[in-house]
Amino acid sequence: MVKRFLLKKMGKVIWFTGLSGSGKTTIASAFCERLNSCGKKVFILDGDEIRSKLHKHLSFSREDIKENNHLIAMMAKEKISEFDFILVPIISPYRDDRQAARNLLGENFIELFVDTSLKECIKRDVKGLYKKALNKEIANFIGVSDSNPYEFPRVPDIHLNTENLSIDECVSIILEYL
Ligand code: ADP
Repeated sequence: MVKRFLLKKMGKVIWFTGLSGSGKTTIASAFCERLNSCGKKVFILDGDEIRSKLHKHLSFSREDIKENNHLIAMMAKEKISEFDFILVPIISPYRDDRQAARNLLGENFIELFVDTSLKECIKRDVKGLYKKALNKEIANFIGVSDSNPYEFPRVPDIHLNTENLSIDECVSIILEYL
């Protein structure tokens, strides 16, 4: 007999990794709108937002980045049965931390690389943070400081190069993948 209560619905977690200003939030929001218009239940777990509201105690040290990534992966896991998609825009610069999130979430985890070069991110400088980091007003800035390199995904599930693609094209590529 099939035990129906065991057949819990499982959503997908799309983990948007990339440098600050690469386009993670922008693409996740556009994708969320598209999914909502198809009647899908979507939740955005925004790395920056959670850091500033819930994880204020965490710094940008290697250990704290790991902890922040881990806690957010756990949050996604808790919500996975309530939503069709959980979108997680989070820099998550270290391969080991992303692999740990994949291990935790299993086959529901989709790694999406928002591939925008450091040069382009510095040019965009949406939040003015690169200017500060380059002037050494911010320490440990990911991708700029030697202490926090960005380790690009070698084989992401989805790869978006935002320097060649519009936001709409990025959304279409994600939909095609799914
Ligand atoms: P992140 O969340 O990665 O820190 P944001 O989404 O906040 O980055 O900012 C990315 C910026 O890049 C936005 O101002 C966005 O309009 C711009 N941008 C330009 N082209 C693209 C593109 N193809 N995809 C995503 N963002 C783009």
